[in-house]
Amino acid sequence: MLLQENIPLAALTTFHLGGPARFFVEARSVGEVQEAVALAQAKDLPLFVLGGGSNLVIADSGWSGLVLKIAIPGIEQRPGTNNEGKVLFEAGAGESWDRFVSHAVMAHCAGVECLSGIPGSVGGTPVQNVGAYGQDVSQTIESVLVFDRRDSQVREFCNEACGFTYRSSIFNTTESARFIILRVTYALTPGGAAYIGYADLKRHFEGRETLPNLAETREAVRHIRARKGMLIVPGDPDCQSAGSFFKNPVLSEARHADLQQRATAKGLHLPSYPTLSSRDTEKSRKVSAAWLVEKSGFARGYGFGHVGISSKHALAIVNRGGASAAEVLALKDQIQQRVREIWDVMLEPEPVMVGF
Ligand SMILES: Cc1cc2nc3c(=O)[nH]c(=O)nc-3n(C[C@H](O)[C@H](O)[C@H](O)COP(=O)(O)OP(=O)(O)OC[C@H]3O[C@@H](n4cnc5c(N)ncnc54)[C@H](O)[C@@H]3O)c2cc1C
Repeated sequence: MLLQENIPLAALTTFHLGGPARFFVEARSVGEVQEAVALAQAKDLPLFVLGGGSNLVIADSGWSGLVLKIAIPGIEQRPGTNNEGKVLFEAGAGESWDRFVSHAVMAHCAGVECLSGIPGSVGGTPVQNVGAYGQDVSQTIESVLVFDRRDSQVREFCNEACGFTYRSSIFNTTESARFIILRVTYALTPGGAAYIGYADLKRHFEGRETLPNLAETREAVRHIRARKGMLIVPGDPDCQSAGSFFKNPVLSEARHADLQQRATAKGLHLPSYPTLSSRDTEKSRKVSAAWLVEKSGFARGYGFGHVGISSKHALAIVNRGGASAAEVLALKDQIQQRVREIWDVMLEPEPVMVGF
């Protein structure tokens, strides 16, 4: 394991901004993760765990401690099926998530096809219960193997122990920064049908007489994502971002009714959806954060110095070239303030702020 110093982090993130890591190591095995944690403890360095860098805003001053990049590779299909007839795939936390999805689709196993094209690592997916187009990883994660920084033990969590809800798990809430994810096991349905539940996907396949297969669904999702600047396409300035910058607010029925009234008073229709997971708060509705941003005066293509709003999607703050983290936060603050003033909703950022 190579300990490096003063390593620029911007290039290791999809936002392409932020300062350097004082110390940096890459771990390709469980043993190397243990070694890196011991090193940080011995030198009394704050530790930050880096995956694919696709959900981060790194401070311009960087990270003054040790950045541990998780690079544990490997995708393995366990022989046979579990007692629910599912095939188990075990993936190293450092694997590219989209490579894993491609692998599952090629093996004709359903459950993650709608999550095609999401950047980042396998290890990043349980952290915020990654989701898109009607699927999230809480629906397919069988177990998560972790290193516990508190007692240096390796443990395995079953799905229920991860506390998954919308964009959340114990890994980004109650136990944030305690566990380093080493491997994730997903239970997928062999020969299962593709999930075509969301309007965008239904529209894409409109008029077709046969059901799309998993590979066609994967391609459709990637196509739709590219149109929205939500696929990393080299050279596309709209994808220099951390994806959606704000979570869709989940509101009680009463708060939702209040918001709807405000919209109606302005002659507008408020887009909202029932919450996805049965484990999310009962009787709540998810409101489109993109709509709130747009209807607060931040249109697609809005510019603010070196940052702005994607020209393809109102929810992505983009680096228009040479941006600083301070500019990103200034635009975030502006948006939050305006949405609060107009709609009485406080938008919660989705990316993780590092080193602030
Ligand atoms: C263009 C674009 C589109 C996106 N679309 C979506 C989308 O549709 N749905 C969605 O949910 N997200 C989306 N995202 C956000 C992002 O891709 C996901 O959150 C992704 O899972 C983050 O994984 P990562 O490996 O890049 O994590 P990083 O960004 O490196 O880290 C994010 C957090 O996870 C922690 N972490 C990472 N790896 C580990 C590990 N092995 N152990 C412990 N903690 C770890 C980090 O410490 C940090 O707190 C998008 C981002 C971009 C740029």
